[in-house]
Amino acid sequence: ATFESLGLPGPLLASLAKAGFETPTKIQAEAIPHQLAGKDILGIAQTGSGKTAAFGLPILAALQALPGRPRPMTARAVILVPTRELAVQIDEALRKMAGPSMRLTTVLVLGGVSRYNQVQKLAKGVDICIATPGRMKDLVDDDKIWLSETRWLILDEADRMLDMGFIGPVKEIASKISWKRQTALFSATMAPEISKLAEGLLREPVRVEA
Ligand code: AMP
Repeated sequence: ATFESLGLPGPLLASLAKAGFETPTKIQAEAIPHQLAGKDILGIAQTGSGKTAAFGLPILAALQALPGRPRPMTARAVILVPTRELAVQIDEALRKMAGPSMRLTTVLVLGGVSRYNQVQKLAKGVDICIATPGRMKDLVDDDKIWLSETRWLILDEADRMLDMGFIGPVKEIASKISWKRQTALFSATMAPEISKLAEGLLREPVRVEA
């Protein structure tokens, strides 16, 4: 397969080539066409499999086609992750894939650092919010971000989020996002608790494996 044959639009193909991505990985080839078609995804994949591009490219493609800018206090996509390091990596990867011409706006909503800059960025509205669940829940509870316009929810490394005790905030955040959203859940393992979480959050998901 090529990225073109997966159905990604031209402008994205150009920035991908610049980023040095030539051939899709297995998980990308399996997940991207379904995600472009609007399906929910249940992905079993480790770091190094290319899962970031698997969930990121279809969102970038859809964002490029949306008119206007995000509304103040809203995020068009929310990506929940277990750690700050992973959040930073995802942000960098998405920016690289989007290329400079897209003017992608992102915010990192992370615990353990000042809320001030996070709240400032959210106030303007962003394309993508990459967040750890505890801080995200705090800002949602304090009305610093509205999830009314959010169309994509991604849970990355869901098994680690469970291990770290984030299941409560994850479920609460998800419950505030419209059921019309598209959801993808990625996990290195498919333990029973992950299946249960997925059952509650995904609708007729396509299962893909790295
Ligand atoms: P990930 O599993 O998403 O953390 O990606 C692992 C690494 O592989 C990252 O450094 C990506 O930039 C790189 N990568 C992902 N997909 C591709 C691809 N199709 N071609 C080349 N590099 C890739």
